[in-house]
Amino acid sequence: MHNLPLITLRKGKDESLKRFHPWVFSGAIRLAESGIREGDLVRVEGERGEFLGIGHYAGGSIAVRILSFKEGSIDITWWKEKLAKAWELRLSEGLLKPDSNTMFRLLHAEGDGLPGLIADYYGGVVVLQAHSLGMFRALETICEALQFVLGEHLKGIYSKSSESMAKIKVTAENGWLSPLSGEPGPCFENGMRFKVDWVQGQKTGFFLDQRDNRLLLAKYCQDKTVLNTFCYTGGFSVFALQGGASMVHSLDSSIPALELTEENVALNGFATERHGIIRADALDYLKSPDLQYDIVVLDPPAFAKRLDARHSAVQAYKRLNHRGLLAVKPGGYLFSFSCSQAVDSELFRHTLRAAAIEAGREVQLLHSLRQGADHPVSLFHPEGEYLKGVVVKVG
Ligand code: SAH
Repeated sequence: MHNLPLITLRKGKDESLKRFHPWVFSGAIRLAESGIREGDLVRVEGERGEFLGIGHYAGGSIAVRILSFKEGSIDITWWKEKLAKAWELRLSEGLLKPDSNTMFRLLHAEGDGLPGLIADYYGGVVVLQAHSLGMFRALETICEALQFVLGEHLKGIYSKSSESMAKIKVTAENGWLSPLSGEPGPCFENGMRFKVDWVQGQKTGFFLDQRDNRLLLAKYCQDKTVLNTFCYTGGFSVFALQGGASMVHSLDSSIPALELTEENVALNGFATERHGIIRADALDYLKSPDLQYDIVVLDPPAFAKRLDARHSAVQAYKRLNHRGLLAVKPGGYLFSFSCSQAVDSELFRHTLRAAAIEAGREVQLLHSLRQGADHPVSLFHPEGEYLKGVVVKVG
């Protein structure tokens, strides 16, 4: 027995759900029970009435996002189990250690079987971001489950959904869903301390996906000069200094970002003489003649937010990497990233190759990089793989 409104798929359109891909596209739907509204939980069946999954109805081109491929209720028990699994994964990755790691992504949407929901953990504060109306409506239940699973590790829950909900034309206010009980703990990433501003900051306040890549950068930096472009809160800059860089230049177009970077450099006790900020457009600065850094980091915002923007994004990555390569001394290194989901790692590498040809520089690929393990990718949903990067030695 079930009491959820029903969506029935067309013949042959059950294939992707049978492969556990969690999206139902609108074209796959044969019949939707009357009265179904955006945000509702729905039951999805094949044309012969066989059960396929339960999900949130969204009504757009992705019409349903599946939460469960098993029969059962999406109730508080279900939520507690889901969240406990995600929490355990982060703990087993060693991401909660009081003096070294206290911030990580706790819920990574489809990667944790929760399409439409992001949660980041910052020293006891969970910042939730709903990307669908179904998830937005579930926030109260999610809070209850978080309190149960995290226990004393939870100091407060903040909803940062106004931007993501505005994209689907839903008005939402940012604010505390569960007020702060006591001081949140300091935010550490691999032993370095950061100030995280989830209220004013971009996204949930910090780019947690680069954790492993920042640590790798540190290993290359002893006595090196480093340019960190698109520095935001200075994650790569702090790790370059930790790795012994003789000089780090942090570049961003945003003044608040540069101020936060300086604060984070100071918070870790690094001498200010080893660090300088540059407020500029990254490409403009990279066009300056005679730049000669030992290491250049390029970590731009997503140039392609959608598939149809892919071509112009590739051109932009090529221009940026061309200039980035020219700013590296012979024998130096380029750390280059793309977080555009629409540009896959093969296309990104191809773009870099074109940039290197144009720059007339020899490049050797040393590392292929990705998002950290707290941003898991379901193999059934390869679209979740979005961050890619390379370390190349530049001849
Ligand atoms: N590398 C960062 C994350 C980058 S987020 C980290 O590890 O945390 C992207 C940053 O690029 C933002 O801070 C934004 O202000 C900056 N930005 C966007 N367009 C820019 C441009 N054209 N030139 C310089 N900075 C830019």
